Amino acid sequence: MLEVFEEIVAGTHRDAGSEDYFVDGLLYCGKCRTPRQIRFEAVGRIHEPYIPCQCELEQERKIKEQQQALERSLKIAEIRRKCFIDHKLSEWTFANDNHEGDAAVMDSVYQYALNFPEMLRAGKGLLLYGAQGVGKSYAAACAANYVIDKGYTCVMTNFPRIINIVSGMFQGKQEYIDELCRNDLLIIDDLSSERNTEYADEIVMNVIDTRCTFGLPLIVTTNLTSAQMKGEESVSKKRIYSRLYEMTIPLKYTGEDRRKSVMRDSYQKYKELLHLPG
Ligand SMILES: [Zn+2]
Repeated sequence: MLEVFEEIVAGTHRDAGSEDYFVDGLLYCGKCRTPRQIRFEAVGRIHEPYIPCQCELEQERKIKEQQQALERSLKIAEIRRKCFIDHKLSEWTFANDNHEGDAAVMDSVYQYALNFPEMLRAGKGLLLYGAQGVGKSYAAACAANYVIDKGYTCVMTNFPRIINIVSGMFQGKQEYIDELCRNDLLIIDDLSSERNTEYADEIVMNVIDTRCTFGLPLIVTTNLTSAQMKGEESVSKKRIYSRLYEMTIPLKYTGEDRRKSVMRDSYQKYKELLHLPG
């Protein structure tokens, strides 16, 4: 055992620096002026193994910190890779926002992301509703990227995709849904874009119920209006919307259709080049 210890500490010994010096026959670091060698008696003889001095310990600590930072950034990159179906969404961040969307809602979504630890504890999500293309998905992806940067797990997906995956499975459907629902944040983009069938409703309800059972937050974006959701006649859809209202804070997103503004920007860009009218 003692030999092992001596071997370990001897491994830290480097050639004495030019400024190193001896005190009572023991080596000291010339830089940090702490011992690089200790003396003790054991098993009837004197041992004088080398030990790391303060600056060497500091160096080791820095290397360890750098390794931890690297491991963390690799882990975050992996969570982000798994989060989005379309990888361009990893660029959708609050920092990259061009402020053309609904400023009030964007601010609320930012505050939600900022206070995510509390929202996670409360299992409280957001229901972002409003006309098509106004930037609800953008806002939700910003929240996703923000919480991923903080080390939380997140998946942003949609029901047509979940339904496709589940309906192609012979077994393990519930395990798949459970695993999806175990992410710290689950974002379902574009609710109501799924097929209007009993089977689809069943899967939608299963995911929402599972998420509710786990007590974890859910962000849903939808083009449905509040009147459409509240006035829903179908029993299964009524259940879905009422459960969603329990689990989320509804936010109405108003603003210009982002796709139109992108088209307008592109038109402006090529107007001169292509001699376009207007
Ligand atoms: Zn030193």
